[in-house]
Amino acid sequence: MADKGKRRCSFCGRAESEVALLMTGMSGYICNECVEQAHNILREEAMLPDKDFKIAELPKPKEIKAFLDEYVIGQDEAKCALAVSVYNHYKRIMQSGTADDVEIEKSNIIMVGSTGTGKTLLARTIARLLKVPFTIVDATVLTEAGYVGEDIESLLTRLLQVADYDVKAAERGIVFIDEIDKIARKGDNPSITRDVSGEGVQQGLLKLLEGSVVNVPPQGGRKHPEQKMIAVNTKNILFICGGAFDGIEKKIAQRLNTHVVGYDSVQNKQNIDKGDMMRYIVPQDLRSFGLIPEIVGRLPILTSLRPLDREALRNILTEPKNSIIKQYKKLMEMDGVKLSFEDSALDYIVDTAVEYKLGARGLRSIVETIMMDKMFEIPSAGVKSCKITKEYARKQIERSASIGGAAE
Ligand code: ADP
Repeated sequence: MADKGKRRCSFCGRAESEVALLMTGMSGYICNECVEQAHNILREEAMLPDKDFKIAELPKPKEIKAFLDEYVIGQDEAKCALAVSVYNHYKRIMQSGTADDVEIEKSNIIMVGSTGTGKTLLARTIARLLKVPFTIVDATVLTEAGYVGEDIESLLTRLLQVADYDVKAAERGIVFIDEIDKIARKGDNPSITRDVSGEGVQQGLLKLLEGSVVNVPPQGGRKHPEQKMIAVNTKNILFICGGAFDGIEKKIAQRLNTHVVGYDSVQNKQNIDKGDMMRYIVPQDLRSFGLIPEIVGRLPILTSLRPLDREALRNILTEPKNSIIKQYKKLMEMDGVKLSFEDSALDYIVDTAVEYKLGARGLRSIVETIMMDKMFEIPSAGVKSCKITKEYARKQIERSASIGGAAE
């Protein structure tokens, strides 16, 4: 026992009592932490090109887009931007670590579009196709970082978790940061103290987007001194950001107006589609909205999503591979029942979603309300088919509305 007290790690000098494990060698000792550190150094030194990918096996941008088409309606511009970025991301990974002098810079993406237009769905769908770890994180939890929120580095915790703590795999993953607009600085005055946190978060995020080695708390949350950190290099991690940027249309309109005045532009002005200002977005608008210029610079691919019109909503209901209607048909089929919807019933569902201003997000809850009773009765009704008519749909919706309204 007395002997034990004297044993120290020959690398870091810590006593046996200070470490979890001390291994004995021919003429020295090494502690578990030094072993881990040495392992990381070896791994970084190795930096061999990734053998997992071959250019011929990579899904080409057109194939990626075609895959997205199966699940997401419309939004072609965003799909193409995503497809190209993801393809290039794979190529970067293949190239990094080779002796090539041309280093391909990563092209992080920012998708701007109102809520419920498919930003998260696009990100999720692309994740299905990928062979790299992928995670979705919410920027809002970071809003008050430094106060009560989570540290920026915790964005990478989820990525590490999905990569099963395989740091090398996580280092070539993709992170979707949702609600990026929520960390924008409010107002144009950078010194407003209440907004310092927003800007602070942006500064922190910048480090990640640029590519640097960051210490990630393996369990997430706030860092604390006793927690062991995992070093993650973000150089090859692709960041896709999404946000609704409510009110940015005004900034776009202002810019378009100021630019247009003085040119020959009454005509130009008339050509502007006022119902969809988002399509004219440029990086400058993100700055006006409150993202710091460095962040905007690190998100070189800016793409916007279109608002969903009636026709798009109708397609969303039935067309995607796992559309809501297909899901219900499958559920019924498992009970041996063929479910069908009258066209007018589908139109009614779309009308209700439009009326309630719920967009695509509302379609599911409307269908759920309509189907609830049937889902309850049909499995024991002994029938072979079930048709949903417009009248039935309306009755169910009105009844649930009256239940909500008649709560007095
Ligand atoms: P956002 O991230 O833009 O707020 P989501 O991607 O979370 O919106 O969309 C909410 C829901 O609406 C999705 O689960 C999906 O069912 C549906 N949806 C939205 N946009 C589309 C679209 N373009 N194609 C198919 N479904 C869509």
